[in-house]
Amino acid sequence: MKIVTVIGARPQFIKAAVVSRAIAAHKDIKEVIVHTGQHFDANMSDIFFEEMCIPKPDYNLNINGLGHGAMTGQMLEKIETVLLQEKPDWVLVYGDTNSTIAGALAAKKLHIKVAHVEAGLRSFNMDMPEEINRILTDRISDILFCPTETAVNNLKKEGYENINCRIIRNGDVMQDAALFYAGRAVRPKTDIPEDFVLCTVHRAENTDDPERLRNIFSALEEISKTCRVVLPLHPRTKGKLSAIGYDTNNSHILFIEPVGYLEMVWMLKHCRLVMTDSGGLQKEAYFFDKYCITLRDETEWVELVKYGYNFLAGDDKGKIISLYNHISDKNNIEQKTPLYGNGNAGDLIVETLRNY
Ligand code: UDP
Repeated sequence: MKIVTVIGARPQFIKAAVVSRAIAAHKDIKEVIVHTGQHFDANMSDIFFEEMCIPKPDYNLNINGLGHGAMTGQMLEKIETVLLQEKPDWVLVYGDTNSTIAGALAAKKLHIKVAHVEAGLRSFNMDMPEEINRILTDRISDILFCPTETAVNNLKKEGYENINCRIIRNGDVMQDAALFYAGRAVRPKTDIPEDFVLCTVHRAENTDDPERLRNIFSALEEISKTCRVVLPLHPRTKGKLSAIGYDTNNSHILFIEPVGYLEMVWMLKHCRLVMTDSGGLQKEAYFFDKYCITLRDETEWVELVKYGYNFLAGDDKGKIISLYNHISDKNNIEQKTPLYGNGNAGDLIVETLRNY
């Protein structure tokens, strides 16, 4: 069996690495990895692949720095060429990026079977490019690998039981990744305070709205006077902060360069709590037993909110600060309800494909 894996962003490399390790245990499966180039990032040099134990891509399409239309269009064209050459049995796509929809669509039009990992997630916010990508990808996938019960239920509500596809709840590959990398954590080179709040802000809905951006950073400044906020600064956020005249050099927040994943794991293990608008980080907070304040109005990971591990604050300064005051003295999460499978999500994907 031959599988073409299409990925293009850092989280997708981490997720795909979990499945690649599971595939590598089977001599009868060949995997070909296509990197679209969607996210270009200095932290994704050769060292990134080596320290993360991630196989290097077989194809690098080098498509980046374009608007949605041009980017997705070029990906479609180039992925199709690769698929015509490789003739795989399956195309495997992850999550909700332009690379996800381009990989799925190119495959489907060539009658190649599509498997979508992280299917069924919904924010119910159609203004998010991610929501559009995930809905369209789900609809043309042959196997929908769902990380959670909520994801399965979302698909059922949308009538997927009447569509010719298979819905599998396999758990979350990010949980497998957290288990794999937990023992490989690396202390960041920058001095990190002993007690700190780990924070990331990069979603377009926050960065592209000056008022939301101001509200969020005003709250973070306030919190940072009590417990230092350490914030690996995404290039997009850096540009947008500078555009609103925010001086990152004159701030209580400790801004650091984006860090490698193993450093991120170190910070997750050592922080007091997490504040973020990232989807992945909300779950990683839970994997590393930390409470999380989410700087968005909604989340795809609703079970974290339901069980009281995650708190939605949006860009409401008062709410962000009062939630911080509410949870900052709590210890780590104890006695977690298991929500994302048993850490064998990658193996279940490979078994399902083999037995299809
Ligand atoms: N991440 C990282 N270094 C950073 C910021 C994030 O390794 O400086 C990791 C983070 O731990 C998570 C993933 O990147 O695994 C999340 O990516 P991002 O926030 O870009 O995307 P999302 O999860 O929202 O799709």
